[in-house]
Amino acid sequence: MSGGTKGRRLHIIDMNIKETNYSNLCNHMNEKINVQCTYHSNPLDCPDSVLVYVPPIRECGMPIRDGKHGSASSYIVIYNCPWCGKKLPKNLRDEWLTELKKMGIEDPILSPDIPEEFKTDEWWKRRDL
Ligand SMILES: [Zn+2]
Ligand SMILES: [Zn+2]
Repeated sequence: MSGGTKGRRLHIIDMNIKETNYSNLCNHMNEKINVQCTYHSNPLDCPDSVLVYVPPIRECGMPIRDGKHGSASSYIVIYNCPWCGKKLPKNLRDEWLTELKKMGIEDPILSPDIPEEFKTDEWWKRRDL
C-alpha cells in the first residue's frame, strides 16, 4: 500500500470508546465512533466498527481487518470525515510520542509503563492542545 499513514495499534491502550467525549466532530463521525458493542470493548476487535477513534492521540482511522475474527492490527489514519469531508482536529501522535520520549520512555507504543494520563485523552485536554 502506498500513500496514507498506517496507525499502529497501541497495545497498551484498551480504547474505552464509551468515554469518548469529542467535540468538533460532524454527526457522521460521532455516530460511527460511538458504536458500542456488547462483545468487543475495543473497536479494533469489532468487525461492525468501520471507524476507530484513539483518544490518547486524538486520531481517527479506518481499521485494516486482517486479523482473527475480523480484528484489526492497524488502521489507516484519516484526516477528513469520509462522508462530508469536514476536516478533523489535528491528531496528536507526534506530540504524544515526543512527550513520552522526553520522560525517557523509548518505545511508548509498546511500553506498558506510561503515565495514566497518557493512556487517555486527559494529557492533551489538560494542556489545551
Ligand atoms: Zn463487536
Ligand atoms: Zn461528516
